[in-house]
Amino acid sequence: MPRITQATASLVDVAVETVRTDAVQSFVKQETVFVEISVDDGGTGTGYAYTIGTGGRAVLALLRDSLLPRLTGADPRRVEAVWLDLFAANRSTTTGAITSLALAAVDTALWDWRCRAAGVPLWVLAGGAKDRVPLYDTEGGWLHLETDELVAGARAAQAAGWPGVKIKVGRSPVADAERLAAVRAAVGPEFDIMVDANQSLTAPEAIRRARLLEPSDPYWFEEPLPADDISGHAALAAATSVPVAVGESMYSVTQFAEYIRRGAVGIVQADVARVGGITPWLKIAHLAQAHNLLVCPHFLMELHVSLCCAVPNSRYLEHIPQLRAITRREIEVRDGHALAPDVPGLGIDWDRDAIDDRRVQ
Ligand SMILES: [Mg+2]
Repeated sequence: MPRITQATASLVDVAVETVRTDAVQSFVKQETVFVEISVDDGGTGTGYAYTIGTGGRAVLALLRDSLLPRLTGADPRRVEAVWLDLFAANRSTTTGAITSLALAAVDTALWDWRCRAAGVPLWVLAGGAKDRVPLYDTEGGWLHLETDELVAGARAAQAAGWPGVKIKVGRSPVADAERLAAVRAAVGPEFDIMVDANQSLTAPEAIRRARLLEPSDPYWFEEPLPADDISGHAALAAATSVPVAVGESMYSVTQFAEYIRRGAVGIVQADVARVGGITPWLKIAHLAQAHNLLVCPHFLMELHVSLCCAVPNSRYLEHIPQLRAITRREIEVRDGHALAPDVPGLGIDWDRDAIDDRRVQ
């Protein structure tokens, strides 16, 4: 029986690749929390989680103080048992964002080892439903961009054969509707345009916004309200023909179950780092499938490409490249689809020297 012999954590700051703003925040830097495990079979695993600028040190401290000491001697094949042990040992800070991020860094390291030990890629070991997934671009749709820039970005994505783009909203209701209409006019009716409000509205505001946006046929209306407001999401979903997409600000399987039970979500956007890793992410994706809902994860395309390919009900991967500075290979894109990386493990080719150069401590 294999045993974990060592587990370490570190923090690496990765500069943002481009200016990214939305209705409530800007992406300052990617605080990347790495966990490395060594196993007595000679294998290793590398996992990670992230923040977009704050809290990374708290995740690191939680890992070092409370999670990693429990890993030595554990059987790395038993991902469920390890996850539950770490969760149960930290009851006073679960469920919560910092703890879920820390759990994700451990869980993804276990899966990386487990896939390498089996000699198969993550997307195969986790289900292997498909070998590619459509990609939509978010990099051309940030809130600070002017309408002509949004149009140029959407046209470029369309010309490259991509099936969709995302536009941030958060200016005035009329201005947002005009910006979306300009993009729709440029790309025609058969191109998907996602709209994202980043939790900035109230339910009554969002219902009015949805009515103003509907003539441009958005593919989804993402994070219209604060993630805590399940009733508001349910009211909006009942009031609009646009699918309501949520999940990037949710931190447990149970939160997704409640959203689904109450008819408050139309597109499930679980983020593997924020929900506590691959083990809970798969449960959320399968829960969505059981309710005939699509899963379109948030950010982390380098890891989510494999998870999207693992499950049958994925529809879209979000294109926001952010690991180029610390990896040696980018995800492969062909005909508007991201291809599942066909190598054992998570499928991310880390540049160890570049990571060492950026370690915070
Ligand atoms: Mg979003």
